[in-house]
Amino acid sequence: MITAIGDVMREAYSRRWITTRDGNCSMRQRGRDTLYITPSGTRKTTIIPETVVRLPIFESKLVLSDKRPSGELEMHWLLQQEDKTQCVLHLHPTYIVATMMAGHDLHDVAKEFPEVYRYTRVGHNVPKLPAVSAELASSTYFQMTDPSGALICDVVGQANHGATSVGKHPWDAFEHIERLEHICEIFLKSR
Ligand SMILES: [Zn+2]
Repeated sequence: MITAIGDVMREAYSRRWITTRDGNCSMRQRGRDTLYITPSGTRKTTIIPETVVRLPIFESKLVLSDKRPSGELEMHWLLQQEDKTQCVLHLHPTYIVATMMAGHDLHDVAKEFPEVYRYTRVGHNVPKLPAVSAELASSTYFQMTDPSGALICDVVGQANHGATSVGKHPWDAFEHIERLEHICEIFLKSR
């Protein structure tokens, strides 16, 4: 499963959903006290299990060290706490971002496409917020969970920026973004 983190990032790059150093992915196996996350600033096409950052979890808190995890660590950690999910993926897919820039809420767009809503719950857009900020982390968490902290969607768009998805496996999270990106391309080309 750790190998899949690198495989997913390479596939995202080959599809031009990220540039070389963009995007991030984290993974946490149920019952295990380690968070695996892509390192900050590295070329994502070179990720192998040995370069994935391992952060111990002690008494429900992350133990930080001199390792350099992704700058979006807080967003990943908010979604990974309390075994909500096992994988979080953040990318910058072209048509998802373009659809939001054209003024559309992805939640509403997805309602028109059964190939998305049958398998992927799409949340309302996260507003335009600075990358790697605490505000982006908390707003993404707010859009993806209900007041009890339970997940209510599989993917959300983040205005002027990208999308974040969750899944049991990196490829599950990838597929949620893939489905949304596909219908966003159709939606924009139909106008
Ligand atoms: Zn980003």
